Amino acid sequence: MERIGFIGLGIMGKPMATHLLEAGYPLTVLDRVPEPQVELVRRGARPGKSPRQVAGESDVVITMLPDSPDVEEVILTPGGLLEGLRPGSLVIDMSTISPAVSRRVAAASRERGSDALDAPVSGGQVGAQNATLSIMVGGSVAAFERARPIFERLGKNIVHIGEAGAGQVTKAANQIVVAVTIAAISEALLLAAKSGVDPAKVREALLGGFAQSKILDLHGNRMLQRNFAPGFKIKLHRKDLAIALNTAREVGMALPATASVAELMNALIARGGADLDHSALVTVLEELAGCQVAAPPAPAER
Ligand code: NAD
Repeated sequence: MERIGFIGLGIMGKPMATHLLEAGYPLTVLDRVPEPQVELVRRGARPGKSPRQVAGESDVVITMLPDSPDVEEVILTPGGLLEGLRPGSLVIDMSTISPAVSRRVAAASRERGSDALDAPVSGGQVGAQNATLSIMVGGSVAAFERARPIFERLGKNIVHIGEAGAGQVTKAANQIVVAVTIAAISEALLLAAKSGVDPAKVREALLGGFAQSKILDLHGNRMLQRNFAPGFKIKLHRKDLAIALNTAREVGMALPATASVAELMNALIARGGADLDHSALVTVLEELAGCQVAAPPAPAER
C-alpha cells in the first residue's frame, strides 16, 4: 500500500485521515496545532515534524488546509513539502483554493519529477465523517487513477474533471450555486413573513415542487429554527466566493449574483458573524426587510 502523508487535520482533514488509517494505509500526520495529531498518533499514525519531512517518508501527500496562502506556505515555500518529495511521488491538495495556485503546485511538482492533483470536496463535515464526500479532481488521468483507491475511502461521487485547476473551478461553481441559493431561500422566506404568510408552510410547499433543493430543506430549516452553529462557516464561504470572483476576473467575465451575495457575507462578517453557519446569511436580509423569518424561541421553549 502507498505510504500516505496527511497535512491539515481540521474539521475535514481529521475524519478523512482517520478513514485512511482504518483502511490500513501507513500514515504520517501533521498539523500546526498538536491535538489532532496526538489523537491520530494514538490510533496508529506516525507523527510528522515538518511538511518536508512528511513528504520524504510518503509516496502520496494529501493536504487539507484552509486557504491558498496556507497551501502555498506548506507546499511551495523554500524548505516546504516540495523540497522533500522523492521523484514519482503524488501531491493531492484537497483544500478549496484558487485554481491558479493549484496550477502552480502542479507545475512545480512536475519539475521535481512528481505529479499533483487538485481534489476539492463537497459534502461538509458529515460527508467527511461518513466518507460520502463528492470529490472533483483536476490533473492527469494517470495521477487520478493512482489516487482513485484513496478517494474511494473518502467519498462516493468521484469525478475527474480535466487538467490541473479544473477541480478547483468546479468547486468554485459549486460554491456559487450554494451561496446564491441560500440568498434566494432567505428572500423567499422573508417575502412570506413580511406578507403575513407562514414561512414554515411556504418551505413545506416549495419542497414538493420545482424549487425543491437540499439547501431549502436543510438550510431553510436552520433559518426557521435559528440554528446558526457551524456547519460551514461564513468566513470560509466568503473565501470561496472570492476565489470564484477572482477566477471570473482572470477569464474576463462578470458574476453579478455571486458578487452581491459576497457583499451580504461581508456585511455579516462586519457584524461579527464570521464563524456562524452560512445559513445565517438570512439575518442580514432580515435587517433589510425589517422582519424575521422566524421569531427566536420564547424562553420557555428553549
Ligand atoms: P479547518 O480550519 O477546520 O482545518 C484546517 C487545518 O489546517 C487546521 O487544523 C489548521 O491548524 C491546519 N493548518 C493550517 N495551516 C497549517 C500549516 N501551515 N501547517 C499545518 N497545518 C496547518 O478547516 P476545514 O473546515 O477542515 O476546511 C479545510 C478545507 O476544506 C478548506 O479549504 C475548506 O474551504 C474546505 N472545505 C470545508 C468544508 C466544511 O464543511 N468545513 C466543506 C468542503 C470543503
